[in-house]
Amino acid sequence: MTFQELTQSIYINGSWEPIDTDQVETIYNPATLEEITKVAYGGADETKRAIKAATDAFPLWSEMTGRERGKVLYKAHELMMERVDYLAEVLTTEQGKPLAEAKGEVTSAAQFLLWYAEEASRAYGEVIPSATKGKRMLVIPQPVGVVGAITPWNFPSSMITRKLGPALAAGCTAVLKPAPETPLSAIEIFKIFAEAGMPKGVINLVTGDAKAIGQTLLESKDVKMITFTGSTAVGKYLMRESANHVKKISLELGGHAPIIVYDDADIDKATSMSLASKFRNNGQTCVCANRIYVHENIIDEFTTMLKEKVNKLKVGSGLDANSDIGPLINEQAIAKVKSQLEDAASKGGEIVTGGNAIEGAGHFFEPTIVAGATDEMVMMNEETFGPLMPIQTFTDEDAVIAKANDTDYGLAAYVFTENLSKAVRTAERLEYGLVGVNEIALAAPEAPFGGIKQSGVGKEGGHHGMDEFLEKKYVAIGIDEK
Ligand code: ADP
Repeated sequence: MTFQELTQSIYINGSWEPIDTDQVETIYNPATLEEITKVAYGGADETKRAIKAATDAFPLWSEMTGRERGKVLYKAHELMMERVDYLAEVLTTEQGKPLAEAKGEVTSAAQFLLWYAEEASRAYGEVIPSATKGKRMLVIPQPVGVVGAITPWNFPSSMITRKLGPALAAGCTAVLKPAPETPLSAIEIFKIFAEAGMPKGVINLVTGDAKAIGQTLLESKDVKMITFTGSTAVGKYLMRESANHVKKISLELGGHAPIIVYDDADIDKATSMSLASKFRNNGQTCVCANRIYVHENIIDEFTTMLKEKVNKLKVGSGLDANSDIGPLINEQAIAKVKSQLEDAASKGGEIVTGGNAIEGAGHFFEPTIVAGATDEMVMMNEETFGPLMPIQTFTDEDAVIAKANDTDYGLAAYVFTENLSKAVRTAERLEYGLVGVNEIALAAPEAPFGGIKQSGVGKEGGHHGMDEFLEKKYVAIGIDEK
């Protein structure tokens, strides 16, 4: 796949802006470290103009019917599905994940558009029976206004449609800032929206200086809501700064997901799913397993089976059809995995398999299992965002649930057991926004995805996801009763 040397990446009021060649950012392929292209490096000025365009477009878009807005989303979904192979290749080239995973992500991105195309017609209000006579009470959902959306590099496609789908369905207009590492998927999605007939100004794209773009979104009174997926540190900053204008916020932040495997689990299923949870996107997902607690009675069988499966994984360029695991996003990601591994080794952790960076151009690291993990190890407390799987044993249900909950994060947790009562008890007691029971695939357009504690506020997906973009206006009507 070849790109032009310069790729237009700032889209304001329905037009792609020319690039100032002094203000560019280079995009690299993480599998080869080769330059893919350069995109525009925008800042405050572009963001202000984008906010103005979104503000001007708001009356038109918000006053269209849900069915009319849904038609544009539906068309965009169709175009995405028609171009799934091309979009997957773009995604893999800039982000690294294997093509099959990229195709899965693009399909899921399109599914968000499809689901919210349908949901656009279903922003129901309420009629409340008044306690006193002479009054009628209505609740009317109305779009919050202009939304500032900031997305991460680990899902360059689906994080965009998971935010823009419900925002647009609700009648909001938006300014999107994609991650600097992965703007190319965002550009392709915006081309598709334009082709699908999105009126000008409804969505605007600004790549460039994250701080300047973020600050401009935060400082503008016209931006009524910030929706963000990324690190807890940046999420906290956005939350603090949103207080100045009391903006609405929806934040999907970091996680530190535990997997609990009881001794009555189906070990074949538990090992396959633990592996999929940990190594999907090379461990670079906020819901991926960060620590595994395995009952002492099955530790040998579990570890042996897991090791066998992990050893079959092929690491390589995501564009190579044989690769199961692609590169990490950058050098810092490799350094973090190495440092967590060194810390674990110094505290008695035993490497069952893997443990090394792979020589070559890209940021490759072997899928790694560490047995004998202790609570003091950094990887048992801090997000790894890499292919490192620590295992600790347990014997007691209460104790393992307490350990699983002993973190400031609260995004996703998983439990494997064939005992229904134990599954329900554990799911109810895990302090997480998402719990998988004998299941690791949690995100779906129709379901509410979101963390608690320091993993975030708000939900994405389902009617709950669209609710975030709707104010509930209460209208009291005084009438003369006969
Ligand atoms: P990660 O470590 O996964 O890259 P970040 O939170 O740094 O997580 O990045 C997620 C998104 O937030 C990216 O689009 C990034 O450019 C953006 N971002 C980072 N810092 C800021 C900031 N100060 N203001 C607004 N957006 C920011």
